[in-house]
Amino acid sequence: MSKIKQIKENEVHVLKTDGKTTKCGFDTTENPENWEKVSDSSKVTCAKNGCKQG
Ligand SMILES: [Zn+2]
Repeated sequence: MSKIKQIKENEVHVLKTDGKTTKCGFDTTENPENWEKVSDSSKVTCAKNGCKQG
């Protein structure tokens, strides 16, 4: 599962398989400077449906 970090909010989200949108619905191509690829083993901190784990 690929993860991506929203830099301003310092939140880690889960990426969909398209590599462009998060599972909670953000389009990372709209503000690419706001997003940073992180390790797949990073802890997801987004609490929204889709990304939220457990
Ligand atoms: Zn999310």
